[in-house]
Amino acid sequence: MVLLQLSEPGESPDPHQKRLGVGIDLGTTNSLVATIRHSIPECLPDADGRALLPSVVRYFRDGEPVVGADALMAQVLDPRNTIASVKRLMGRGLADTDAGMRARYDLVDCGGGMVRLKTAAGLRTPVEVSAEILQALRARAEDTLGGDIEGAVITVPAYFDDAQRQATKDAAKLAGLNVLRLLNEPTAAAIAYGLDEAAEGIYAVFDLGGGTFDFSVLQLSRGVFEVKATSGDSALGGDDFDESLWLWLQEQVKGVDLDCSSSRALLAEARRVKEALTTEDSVIATVPIAADGVREVKVTASQFQTLTQSLVDRSLLPVKKALRDAGYSPADIQAVVLVGGATRMPHVRSAVERYFGRPPFTDIDPDKVVAIGAAIQANVLVGNRRADEDWLLLDVIPLSLGLETMGGLTEKVISRNSTIPISKAQDFTTFKDGQTAMAIHVVQGERELVQDCRSLARFELRGIPPMPAGGARIRVSFQVDADGLLSVSAQEQTTGIESHITVKPSYGLSDDEIATMLRAGFEHANTDMKLRALREHSVEAERLIEATRQALGEDAHLLDADERTRIEAAISVLTGLLSGTDADAVKSAVDALSAVTGEFAARRMDQAIRKALTGNRVDNLSV
Ligand code: ADP
Ligand code: MG
Repeated sequence: MVLLQLSEPGESPDPHQKRLGVGIDLGTTNSLVATIRHSIPECLPDADGRALLPSVVRYFRDGEPVVGADALMAQVLDPRNTIASVKRLMGRGLADTDAGMRARYDLVDCGGGMVRLKTAAGLRTPVEVSAEILQALRARAEDTLGGDIEGAVITVPAYFDDAQRQATKDAAKLAGLNVLRLLNEPTAAAIAYGLDEAAEGIYAVFDLGGGTFDFSVLQLSRGVFEVKATSGDSALGGDDFDESLWLWLQEQVKGVDLDCSSSRALLAEARRVKEALTTEDSVIATVPIAADGVREVKVTASQFQTLTQSLVDRSLLPVKKALRDAGYSPADIQAVVLVGGATRMPHVRSAVERYFGRPPFTDIDPDKVVAIGAAIQANVLVGNRRADEDWLLLDVIPLSLGLETMGGLTEKVISRNSTIPISKAQDFTTFKDGQTAMAIHVVQGERELVQDCRSLARFELRGIPPMPAGGARIRVSFQVDADGLLSVSAQEQTTGIESHITVKPSYGLSDDEIATMLRAGFEHANTDMKLRALREHSVEAERLIEATRQALGEDAHLLDADERTRIEAAISVLTGLLSGTDADAVKSAVDALSAVTGEFAARRMDQAIRKALTGNRVDNLSV
């Protein structure tokens, strides 16, 4: 008998016309691909039924690289050519890579701000290594689903900067995937639990993976998740639990020699035992011994928990810090979502429950939850939902984007936490008479002074027709696409001449830098405002002094000696104040100079009109 497939509510009537969208969790330790089939999200397994693909790629001198479990097993044999944790290198220059990665691999700096790995197959960028992982997932999805993938939503940590996001997109492109959008990992986890349709409020995502710990606080309002705070520890994860147990097991067989390769094999055994102890009360560890085979050691769950409790306690430090920074107490958090394979460990769960005073969400497999959220989003973006239930989850900009203006000040064009995609324009003008070019400097950050923000790009608008200062109108437009990538254009409004740049970010803002910049923005808000006022008044002062000096040079004959002395005195008072820090004093001196030059300006105006009239007959003057 053949089953007749019927379409489901909300899906396209012809099943063959259903468009394939996938969600991909490109993890440091493991990666997954998920999709929605028959309205149910699921992670797609490989031929052996394993959903998790170890994020490991092994290169050979000849032949294709191997990805996943087989590569993971070769780590012991061929560590230099077997690349793990490549996510730590994405969008990074050599100087920004962590010491652990530098010790494990041959990293080289070939310029362009991107590190490369020396492998048996030649130099490889982190983008290429990640592309191998994505390619393997794409092949798995196409084989399972029997068709081409229309597009993919790929998740990234919330703290990833432009460079890391761009590198992830480049990897997807290289793997032949159409990126529908990048999605923050904690946001994906929240979507998997349907929190976007839940009550508005504050949610937390606790993500303990293989080598990293990420904690995020999200605020849901009007269906939009805003990342309120991120924190974590880039050197804390399930691997550290393996290592504690590994050291302990070595203690238990003290006096017996372990050779180098059996010591590595013991680390893999420690991981197996750790994972088994999540559900068993005790597990027998098999310790390989160089000379005489194996030794069996019994490990109980409570021994393991005592051994690793300090690691669990360590994870709570960034949690406390993030809540404090964002101004919340544990009771303000509506729900906590657990993400990452290592949160399966019972003592991790109970520590989270104790701290927040409520059981965390654990119904969805913690190592699949991010991929599932991404799949739900992908399904919407490829258009498999009916129009009336169409929604688009919006993301926000983590740091404000703006321009440098006179005096080294930042003018914010798009403010932090604006939902994306977004485009905004602002008009600027020339500062000097006859100015024909304008330098445009794009910056990112919360501080008032350019020197405290991150410089993203510089370009120039040339060919502005010569006009008096303030005459030209230059419209600068910012456009941020759904992945948070920025393009900026500048156009002179009377001539239409235009200049444009896509911000290909300069690689190398470290993990914590975004958080640090944000915090600095809040802390310095007050002093920054004062400095801003000072710079603004100073720019005004310089403009006025220059204009007055020019007028004196041309039309000094319109003044008597007394008037001239008074103007000169006001200029010198103002000039003297410019090297100081008193914004109010500068402001009053500017006002004073304007006052003493008022009469002079009026006389110059009269003179100009008289000049214009000379030689013109009255009938030529009528409009
Ligand atoms: P990542 O996000 O870094 O790619 P994962 O979320 O896949 O990582 O988590 C991998 C970690 O989870 C590993 O350290 C692994 O040993 C651990 N893990 C997986 N399953 C279990 C389990 N049942 N009990 C304890 N730890 C587990
Ligand atoms: Mg993860």
